[in-house]
Amino acid sequence: MSITVDDIIIGGGSFVIIGGPCAVENREQFLSAARYVKESGANILRGSAYKPRTSPYSFQGIEEEGLKYIYEAKMETGLPTICEVLDANLIEKTAKYVDILQIGARNMQNFPLLRAVGKSGKPVILKRGIAATIDEWLNAAEYIRSEGNYNVILCERGIRTYETSTRNTLDISAVPVIKSRSDMPIIVDPSHAAGVREYVAPLSKAAVAAGADGLMIEVHPNPEKALSDGHQSLNPHEFKTLCSDIKKLANFMGFGLA
Ligand code: PEP
Ligand code: MN
Repeated sequence: MSITVDDIIIGGGSFVIIGGPCAVENREQFLSAARYVKESGANILRGSAYKPRTSPYSFQGIEEEGLKYIYEAKMETGLPTICEVLDANLIEKTAKYVDILQIGARNMQNFPLLRAVGKSGKPVILKRGIAATIDEWLNAAEYIRSEGNYNVILCERGIRTYETSTRNTLDISAVPVIKSRSDMPIIVDPSHAAGVREYVAPLSKAAVAAGADGLMIEVHPNPEKALSDGHQSLNPHEFKTLCSDIKKLANFMGFGLA
């Protein structure tokens, strides 16, 4: 099945590229990232205003101020937008400013939150939990769908294994497995899987070759200065080059470009 957001189609043979920084840090950073994402030919803009950080002392996001910049970036670029929601009581506010709600890996089995985004009717990107099986992930998606919201996009973002060379291990197998078990679109986030900038391009290409319906890639105007996930974020030039390579590959795989 496919999901339409504005004029962008996700799934059903159409390939999407989602790009943007990990977090909305300030107006200048986010609008500049948004312009690069647009100029690179990507289709959807990401950036979170609320961040689920491992340490409570790390940067937590700029909250509602960030939602306003996301909206401003959409108005300027015309790109549909994504922001993570950490709590059910933030859904209504977030939904006013952004097009797609993201449920992060750490919340994949937060069942009240899943039901609440289900009730919102908004398109949802459901990231795979850090140590979730595909079965658990599909059941989590069912929590959203059981509330009547079928606009669910699955996102493989790597799982925890014994390997420490990468932040997570990208489970590329998840792509064909999901394709055989579900009709939901499946996209891949190579940035959180790799955790290292130089591995993002090869993993992106592998995901396209495996049949993913799209990619979500972190890009920052100045990765060295990023307040979160800078080491895995591409710079604008790297992102642009990768977008052009991905489009050629997606085309070869028989996808239409969103
Ligand atoms: C993110 O997309 O920035 C994020 C926090 O991802 P995950 O939930 O997959 O760790
Ligand atoms: Mn991130």
